Amino acid sequence: MLDLPRARDRMVNIHVGGRGIHDREILQAMREVPREAFVDPGFEEFAYEDAPLPIADGQTISQPYVVAFMIEMADVKSGDHVLEVGTGSGYAAAVMSRIVERVYTIERHPGLAETAKRRFEKLGYENIEVRTGDGTKGWPEAAPFDAIVVTASGPGAPLALQEQLDVGGRLVIPVGEDPDSQRLLKVTRTGAATYSEEDFGGVRFVPLIGKQGWPENGEPAEVSRALRRPHPLSLPEMIATAAEPLPDFDDQAFGELFDRFADRRVVLLGEASHGTSEFYRARAAITRRLIEKHGFTIVAVEADWPDAAAIDRYVRHRKSLAGASPPFQRFPIWMWRNTDVAAFTDWMRHRNEKLEPSEQAGFYGLDIYNMSGSIAAVLGYLDRVDPQAAKIARERYGCLTPWQNEPSTYGRAVLTAGYQKCEKAVLEQCRDLLAKQLDYARRDGVDFLDASQNARLIAAAEHYYRIMYYGGAEAWNLRDTHMFETLEHLLNATGSNAKAVVWAHNSHIGDARYTEMGIVRGELNIGQLCREHFGDRAALIGLGTHSGTVAAASDWDGEMEVKRIRASHADSYERLCHDSRVPRFLLDLGRDKALRERMLERRLERFIGVIYRPETELRSHYADASLPQQFDAFLWFDKTCAVTPLSSEHARSGVPDTYPFGL
Ligand code: SAM
Repeated sequence: MLDLPRARDRMVNIHVGGRGIHDREILQAMREVPREAFVDPGFEEFAYEDAPLPIADGQTISQPYVVAFMIEMADVKSGDHVLEVGTGSGYAAAVMSRIVERVYTIERHPGLAETAKRRFEKLGYENIEVRTGDGTKGWPEAAPFDAIVVTASGPGAPLALQEQLDVGGRLVIPVGEDPDSQRLLKVTRTGAATYSEEDFGGVRFVPLIGKQGWPENGEPAEVSRALRRPHPLSLPEMIATAAEPLPDFDDQAFGELFDRFADRRVVLLGEASHGTSEFYRARAAITRRLIEKHGFTIVAVEADWPDAAAIDRYVRHRKSLAGASPPFQRFPIWMWRNTDVAAFTDWMRHRNEKLEPSEQAGFYGLDIYNMSGSIAAVLGYLDRVDPQAAKIARERYGCLTPWQNEPSTYGRAVLTAGYQKCEKAVLEQCRDLLAKQLDYARRDGVDFLDASQNARLIAAAEHYYRIMYYGGAEAWNLRDTHMFETLEHLLNATGSNAKAVVWAHNSHIGDARYTEMGIVRGELNIGQLCREHFGDRAALIGLGTHSGTVAAASDWDGEMEVKRIRASHADSYERLCHDSRVPRFLLDLGRDKALRERMLERRLERFIGVIYRPETELRSHYADASLPQQFDAFLWFDKTCAVTPLSSEHARSGVPDTYPFGL
């Protein structure tokens, strides 16, 4: 049984209030008017989705947020006389009737006008008058009006309507033919023959058909040409209009917002820092939804493969490897050893428990760093399945071991020592392992995937640590190429329908070609490679914040500190999002063409990694980027909090301080 009053309350709180409509009378009126009484039979269950719905005669009942936004723009007050052009279902007129003294509403389709009239009668709304006709001519006998709201998009503001405004009266009307470039205009009558005009951003409405609107076919007739030109807009206002507010992380509606990405092969979820709780929780909520409802089975994160493999064993109820040291012990441990990640991996474990191994979702690491762990994993595996091969591998890897605990020193060593010999040995090892794929896979498919991945990454890591000494793009590119290839490898190993969610920093996820990284430094990243490889089947989603706290160190290998994030820079994308005054939202950058165009020009974007240096923030943490090209969507959390690292205090009763629990 649908709980409609509750759904109505939720809609008002989340989709209307949460998006910045604060006028109490509007919110109250929307809580009062049963939208389900204004939708066509069979659509009641969708009445409180924030979406327009089809009604008779090919028309629509407007999206609740847009109804509220237009009423707020019209600035209606008790005592006002208001004209609405485009009755449609009657919903907007009903909402306004709860605030003002009298509403006059005109609809060109007689059937719609009749139905709306009956609805008002049934609900006892006696202060609404309905008429069938061409609303572009207004309702002269009832003029002047304090406000006129037009709910269909015309070529301009009809002169008749402007003339029927009282002085001080407001006309709110969408203008523009192409649904992708309509704007919402507000015309205010400032004197007997003077008007001012404001533009409130991109909207999408059905056409206004009439004498001073669009003809059914052909060119428009009498319109105010002066009102046709596009107007400079405030970008934050455009963002506020396009923003889709985010519900609580645990609300099912949070995940549902991301159903639009369900058919992608890879969904890449970024983060603007490695130490922000909201970023982990948002990614967990989206990933839960993609796993539960849309068949995603790979969670691939910016973490070392062998450490993530230990988590994978945990989430899939497989025994931990004998003698394995606890995962994620290296700097920066708060990145994966934190309460948000623990909650998410617990969820994965719980869900996997009821499933066949082939249906379970796995947790994998894409990164390249942990050479020693990888070597141990390859050797341990070979010890079990092919002791002879293990012996040869030990000899081969022997030449890496002097540096394996501190691989970054290896770069210096290879400049002087017999590097080439070692590289060859590692590659041979990798090749050998892959060549035996079929044989091993027959014995244990999952373990083979793990071991062959480790062998691949040792070969890549060896190269990585060698060139790290030369610094710059080459090392970065090697690392991100390795991450992409690992992802590809995982997808191929899991089957042709496999779908993956990737968690990594915005600098890895956002297409590098549209950032300073790619343009100035020649760096590529996993987001770019995914787009080049998967095209539209990859979704790149960035995450950002304005201020709050973050877990970060001051130097590499330093202690974790909870640091205050400085308010975002005045020239940054973050500041635009902050100025929208919508506290948490999803911005789908593919939906609003006008907004996308306005945001294209490069500006600053903030990148906080494991190190945060607020004192040199502009130099250390900002780079130029074109956000709508870098990402397909952007998630905004205006104020955020540092992650809570796991410690003995967080170990659950009776469980040792190892992570994941129970390993
Ligand atoms: N306010 C409505 C609601 O809450 O359901 C939504 C209305 S719908 C988006 C726009 C309506 O404008 C349609 O029903 C359409 O038939 C009507 N319309 C278009 N041109 C019109 C005109 N010249 N005069 C009156 N109504 C018109």
